[in-house]
Amino acid sequence: MPVSINQNAQAKKVATIVFGCQMSERDAETLTALSTGSGYVPTDEVQNADLIIVNTCCVRESAENKILGKIGELKRLKENNPNLKIAVCGCMVQQPGALVKLQKRAPHVDIWTGTHNLQNFATLLKETETKGKVAEVIKEHTGVSETPRRDKRKLRAYVNIMYGCNNFCSYCIVPHVRGRERSRPPAEIITEIQDLVSCGCREVTLLGQNVNSYGKELTPAYDFADLLQEVDQIPGLYRVRFITSHPKDLSDKLIETIAHGKHLCEHIHLPIQAGSNSILRSMNRQYTREYYLSRVAHIRELIPNVSLTTDFIVGFPGESEEDFAQTLDVVLQVQYSQAFTFLYSKRSGTPAAVMPNQIALDVKKKRLQELMNLQTQASLEWRERMVGKTYEVLVEGSSKTNPERLTGRTRGNELVVFNGDSELSGQLINVQIVEAGSWTLVGEVVYRNKLEQE
Ligand code: SAH
Ligand code: SF4
Repeated sequence: MPVSINQNAQAKKVATIVFGCQMSERDAETLTALSTGSGYVPTDEVQNADLIIVNTCCVRESAENKILGKIGELKRLKENNPNLKIAVCGCMVQQPGALVKLQKRAPHVDIWTGTHNLQNFATLLKETETKGKVAEVIKEHTGVSETPRRDKRKLRAYVNIMYGCNNFCSYCIVPHVRGRERSRPPAEIITEIQDLVSCGCREVTLLGQNVNSYGKELTPAYDFADLLQEVDQIPGLYRVRFITSHPKDLSDKLIETIAHGKHLCEHIHLPIQAGSNSILRSMNRQYTREYYLSRVAHIRELIPNVSLTTDFIVGFPGESEEDFAQTLDVVLQVQYSQAFTFLYSKRSGTPAAVMPNQIALDVKKKRLQELMNLQTQASLEWRERMVGKTYEVLVEGSSKTNPERLTGRTRGNELVVFNGDSELSGQLINVQIVEAGSWTLVGEVVYRNKLEQE
């Protein structure tokens, strides 16, 4: 039933603030959807909201500091509006022993909840009306059911295919806050994507901390490459992406599947973290530099136009200048289209936090800058090689930085801006690249609707 303007004016409003990875974004979408189920209407205006949800990240200290700053800022809004409810959710709250410290630091927060009990958010919301402040952080959840989303009509959607991680890289907090690997049954994933496509979605990104170990614990076991093949067949879906792949589980079958897939995008995010074998060993990454580079060579052999992206951690305990030089060398050898570079951050409870030979902050920062300079140059060269060529682009709508222009992404996930009619939004078109900017590409539409040409 349509909501009358009057009712809408009275409806309580919910604003959501998200920190962290795509999984955190997807969780935030679920929390928003659950609050709309409780009568709230989403708003982008935090200062006018009746409920503010902060979905948190704890992967690095810098993220945590930013979030604590944001939660602190919200206190003023609560002072102006005592009816305002503030909910802080997700990874930061889920950390062992974190809740008590957080509650002490931010007594103005009404609801605290971790990553494992998202589904209970509507109940917590109700409880806070009667009980005041509520907190619920359960140790681990083993369920994997579909979670609601705010708007199924979006062009691009994230779809969780699995939760948790079994890898325990020595620096990483994720397995401690997301639990062990749990895969969703393939049929449930396919049905969810079919439903999204029927609502207008054209691109899905399959999410997991290590998607290529998908299905190993299902009975019978199910292979990620088989799941990709099934998703590739869904009528009406233009594009399929996935993150994140762990190099140790990247099988030949998976590479062949991407090479032969129709809608499987030629983009693989393959975090290497470091280029030196001794650092990789101490990180517990379970592959060597040589193995990683041989995987890259095999990918490039089968998928010559692949766009590879990665994550690097700089200044891991014990990293010598020689170790770091090996990381720089990987940038030169692999030619990533893009890389995410991070300063190593001590996470309490992880083995690396108590390793000897922690690297001084000024050394870490100097190395990070050097790595970023090299990668910025490599990314620019990557984009310059695209100039003059034509690429398939899924049009997302007006560019945020230049609303006169449209924006979209290539199959390799490169961002392109171009002039065009807003009616092109949601369509696959061909765009010729005419200029490589420092972060984006500038293109010209070659012909209107690629699908009409087929
Ligand atoms: N599951 C994914 C990524 C998880 S976290 C994977 O294995 O690739 C995203 C990125 O954050 C990691 O790839 C890593 O580069 C970075 N990261 C994780 N823990 C970190 C830490 N303690 N300090 C700095 N960067 C970290
Ligand atoms: Fe963290 Fe390693 Fe698991 Fe990625 S694979 S989430 S880096 S423990």
